[in-house]
Amino acid sequence: MVHHCVTSAPICKAEIYVFRAPVAAPIRTSFGTMHDRPALILRLEDATGAYGWGEAWCNFPVCGAEHRARLLESVLIPHVLGKTYAHPEHGLAAIVRHTEVLRLQADEPGPLSQAAACVDIALWDLAARKADKPLHVILGQAGNSSLSAYASGINHPGIAETISRARNEGYRTFKVKIGFGDTQDMQNIHDGLDALREGERLAVDANQAWDLPTALAMIEKLNASPLLWIEEPLRCDRPWDEWKRLAASSRIPLAAGENMRSRESFETALVSRAFGVIQPDLCKWGGLSECRKIAAKILAAKLRYCPHYLGGGIGLLASAHLLAAAGGDGLLEVDCNPNPLRELLAQPFPAVANGTLNLSDAPGLGVEPDLIAVKDFMTFYKECRSSSALPGSN
Ligand SMILES: [Mg+2]
Repeated sequence: MVHHCVTSAPICKAEIYVFRAPVAAPIRTSFGTMHDRPALILRLEDATGAYGWGEAWCNFPVCGAEHRARLLESVLIPHVLGKTYAHPEHGLAAIVRHTEVLRLQADEPGPLSQAAACVDIALWDLAARKADKPLHVILGQAGNSSLSAYASGINHPGIAETISRARNEGYRTFKVKIGFGDTQDMQNIHDGLDALREGERLAVDANQAWDLPTALAMIEKLNASPLLWIEEPLRCDRPWDEWKRLAASSRIPLAAGENMRSRESFETALVSRAFGVIQPDLCKWGGLSECRKIAAKILAAKLRYCPHYLGGGIGLLASAHLLAAAGGDGLLEVDCNPNPLRELLAQPFPAVANGTLNLSDAPGLGVEPDLIAVKDFMTFYKECRSSSALPGSN
């Protein structure tokens, strides 16, 4: 498959965009609130004019998008410009090597990983567009372009109304936020389950809000409930024996992964058998290059691979293509809160019907950002060009 992935010409131009879209209602989680919806996307172009799009996770802290954009502009893009990559994976590997000491010195591996993931996605999209194939075809064998999708980010007040709206948009599985205290959590779960129709399913997400005693007590109460999974009941850095103890007491599968940030942490998670669902976020760590290997290991361990995602349309489509390539019975996370950057950065946005999202067979991600429609939300733009983008100038 490598011959399909050759980028074969030097990267000569990068465009970095940050958008912040205002929202009527803040997005609340148990750990923080988003008062607008940010997105950081990147367009890489090679010397033949071929191009690809990437996106970085940048939801938190409030300056996260601009910070990661500056990391791209000042650290990563100068390293990428002028380089020719024989395979898209080579870009991420080179960036990781280039920033190894910086990660330690600056003690911010997270933002650097997110900026690197953005470059990685853009290189894969470029390679797929150049090969004139959908991204999922060059990523893997499964080639399943019809994906189960679920509506995520549902919170009080108005859980029943939000589920009803998401159902009308085509979703049949829903995920409700908890982690706001015992009484509110039981109310949210009750409201979510009560709103379901036959054949529909509900998952819940505690966003790392509980300690072990709280989680054990909640799981005892929830064990008889027909929940699809319980996400991040503990903080991601709690000892494995806590996770195993919780898993042993839970009849409901536990889920985590959006805050795992290394091959080792995913491998330890698989070996622990504490989880039924693993949720890597390819815009947060690893890009497509690392997360496709993690996805294969999750499936080989007979667990469910469900990509985590909360951001703009480019990262969402990259997540969809990786799920399509990986196969399995996982579901694509689609945030159902209003966010113009989800649809406008990924046109034409794939339709969802009867719980299924269908990817087109257009090359690469199969979508384009509508940069005219989102121009009012743009807060940062930088174009960077290679000064030596001559063929073979490695
Ligand atoms: Mg989550």
